[in-house]
Amino acid sequence: MSRVFVVNSGSSSIKYQLVDVESGEAVIGGLVERIGEPGGDAADHSEGMRLVLDRLGAAGDDASFVAVGHRVVHGGSLFTAPTLVTDEVVAQIERVSALAPLHNPANLAGIRAARAVMTDVPHVAVFDTAFHQSMPAEAYTYAIDRDVAQAHGVRRYGFHGTSHEFVAGRAAALLGRPLEQLKLIVLHLGNGSSATAIDGGRSIDTSMGLTPLEGLVMGSRSGDVDPGALLHLLRTGLSVDELDRLLNKRSGLLGLTGRGDMRDVVQAADDGDADARLALDVWAHRIRHYVGAYLAQLGGLDALVFTAGIGENSPVMRARAVAGLQHLGLSIDDDRNAMSWREPREISPEGAAVKVLVVPTNEELAIARAAAALAG
Ligand code: ADP
Repeated sequence: MSRVFVVNSGSSSIKYQLVDVESGEAVIGGLVERIGEPGGDAADHSEGMRLVLDRLGAAGDDASFVAVGHRVVHGGSLFTAPTLVTDEVVAQIERVSALAPLHNPANLAGIRAARAVMTDVPHVAVFDTAFHQSMPAEAYTYAIDRDVAQAHGVRRYGFHGTSHEFVAGRAAALLGRPLEQLKLIVLHLGNGSSATAIDGGRSIDTSMGLTPLEGLVMGSRSGDVDPGALLHLLRTGLSVDELDRLLNKRSGLLGLTGRGDMRDVVQAADDGDADARLALDVWAHRIRHYVGAYLAQLGGLDALVFTAGIGENSPVMRARAVAGLQHLGLSIDDDRNAMSWREPREISPEGAAVKVLVVPTNEELAIARAAAALAG
């Protein structure tokens, strides 16, 4: 039996899954919500973690899993792979927290709480940024004053790395070819969205940057905006916090249409809503922008891979994303695209030189596997 307890600790919630690494199944999963809020499940992360253990009952006994895997959003330039958690590692994660003030402190609260109550198993931190540490300097460097960039850690890090890596591996298996020989573009399209160019299994460029705000149009995040527009808004009197809220919480599909959920936006567009139609056009235009760019960076392409909520479930938006890219060898077979099942599959026409794939992601399983491997 090889089970890993996977923890994804946010600022006000703890998501958890007990994952069987061999079968890939989640044996138990759940959520502790509204931590620290009136009427919430728990007053703080420590109480939340004790609640999780109570819920797990006998399954929460340390002896029933080989490791605890923790999702950590930002590993800065320090972490290039899953890492066994020690006091020193906790201190290092704390040091890079300035780069992800919303996420890392919450991840750390979960790590501390879990280490306090699950004392007899190794804890492993799995970083959203780690997979992208293979990017070359020309891809991760922003062209700003190098001393300022250095002093503040300002560079592209990229996120969703656990998902991009997992999906790339599954895509290679589906294609029946070694990952080391493949050029892939993975489109992780969920509430948060990112595109990654993967050459021989290594991330060589990705659309998210210093933070998970850059790149594609997301549920409520803007993606790419001229930095000059932000300066302009600050000069008009918007505070830094207001600008932060605008870009993270009031932009993307939500900002353009008043609806943050892609299903609602598609429905509104079908009903003739002009804002919704424009939003879908902007969304798809931005994706094609990155697909074209990464095709050029990769110097060829074996497969374009769709994953996450929208990528896995929306034939309409997959079709929109690649519309007009036939000249790049990218096209979709309508019947294959319309089929829905939970397994990796090809949706490009029979015999297509460049494959278009749908590959469900599973970040919990990826974290569980990484943790199990490290725990030996
Ligand atoms: P998160 O980034 O929160 O993990 P998900 O990967 O679960 O997000 O993706 C959520 C998004 O997927 C939402 O915008 C949701 O509307 C969209 N989605 C899920 N199913 C469908 C569908 N059948 N058609 C269109 N969009 C869908």
